[in-house]
Amino acid sequence: MTGTAKAPSTPVSAFDLFKIGIGPSSSHTVGPMIAARQFACLLQSRGLLPQVTALVTQLYGSLSATGRGHGTDRAVLLGLAGHRPDRIDPDTIEPAIAAIRRERRLHLLGTHAVAFDEKEHLLFLRKSLPRHPNGLRFIALDAQGQTLAEADYFSVGGGFVVDAQGESVRNEAGVQRPAPAALPFAFDTGAELLAQCRAQGLSIAALMMANETQWRPQAEVRSELLQVWDAMAGAVRRGCASTGTLPGRMQVRRRAADLFGQLQGSGTAQAAPDPLAAMDWVNLYAMAVNEENAAGGRVVTAPTNGAAGVIPAVLHYHQRFFPGAGDEAVVEFLLTAAAIGILYKKNGSLSGAEVGCQGEVGVACSMAAGALAAVMGGTPGQVENAAEIGMEHNLGMTCDPVSGLVQIPCIERNAMGAVKAINAARMALRGDGSHFVSLDKVIQTMMQTGADMKTKYKETSRGGLAVNIVEC
Ligand code: SF4
Repeated sequence: MTGTAKAPSTPVSAFDLFKIGIGPSSSHTVGPMIAARQFACLLQSRGLLPQVTALVTQLYGSLSATGRGHGTDRAVLLGLAGHRPDRIDPDTIEPAIAAIRRERRLHLLGTHAVAFDEKEHLLFLRKSLPRHPNGLRFIALDAQGQTLAEADYFSVGGGFVVDAQGESVRNEAGVQRPAPAALPFAFDTGAELLAQCRAQGLSIAALMMANETQWRPQAEVRSELLQVWDAMAGAVRRGCASTGTLPGRMQVRRRAADLFGQLQGSGTAQAAPDPLAAMDWVNLYAMAVNEENAAGGRVVTAPTNGAAGVIPAVLHYHQRFFPGAGDEAVVEFLLTAAAIGILYKKNGSLSGAEVGCQGEVGVACSMAAGALAAVMGGTPGQVENAAEIGMEHNLGMTCDPVSGLVQIPCIERNAMGAVKAINAARMALRGDGSHFVSLDKVIQTMMQTGADMKTKYKETSRGGLAVNIVEC
């Protein structure tokens, strides 16, 4: 298979979008943990680690406003201690944090001990750094209190982190797979993606697979996608089995396990089949994942943690209700969703702090809608149409998490996003792919709407539901 080689702006892989990590937030938990670890690795690579006696972390903008509720403080401590979001066992987090706070000491990369006083060394600053609302600054000090090293990082959404020069910082902190110089079917816009599909006679998933093989062999792409699916399914399973309340002072009750029990029993209890029963299952899958995320459990950024339930819910729906759906459909679904996510990553935003919830649940809905249309037999044009519908009806959606926690409205919002994605796919499949508003135009509109949105609606918990709910 040959393509028109083109140097892409920045090659983005499906595995940059689907990252196995921990809750509750990709931008406020996963990104800061990666940034903190990166700074500790930087100190090590420069041979400075032994001289460091204290380390100050400054959290700016949205990371400061909702950082505590989103676990940014804990993520930074874990990252400095050398932990990675994709590897850490969620059950070890509490004891690790408790030990740092009790001993007032932190072991950088698990080896070099430095003083840690929460009030002195972890600062929440309301202003934003110029590049992005989610900024972090790390300052390493020696025994005389002199600065040994200082670096800024930005958690730009979906667990993506860039340094002050705009260079991408990967989860692997130095052991990342080298990015390919060019992809066989590079695309920066939806129009280019469709043109490549037309020219090559390929589906979006087949085109993505060809691009992904520039990072890793096809068999590995397939098996890693199935691992992503496995992690998504694991989050659903744990969410369906966990009861009690979620962390935080609101004491929000977990509902997925109860709903799961009701749905399992509903087949025998009802005289006539409920024509909308599938919708209950979709709601269940999304809520299970997002409750697991809110509890700090293992989830997949898809494309963010706050929106982690939409794609697993729609994929579970397809696996459960479409006879014969199996691993091939999973691979096609995730590759198609990733292609759509890449368009948002390149031309839009995956950050609630930058564009509101349009960039999280809105993007997840768009990705899931296109992917479902693909596995239901849609043409690339119908897939693009479904993805466009999925975003068009999320335009303007604000981010106003109550109490700064990724719980209300986030958990139910994922269920709503999943149901909307299914409807978008169905609408697109009833047409022939031609439509008025292109996916590129709707992405552009999302960015413009986000730019006009007041800061209080962008993950600061200073507007909307966040200020209209009386906490008990
Ligand atoms: S409201 Fe949306 S963007 Fe904001 S934290 Fe919740 S899921 Fe994320």
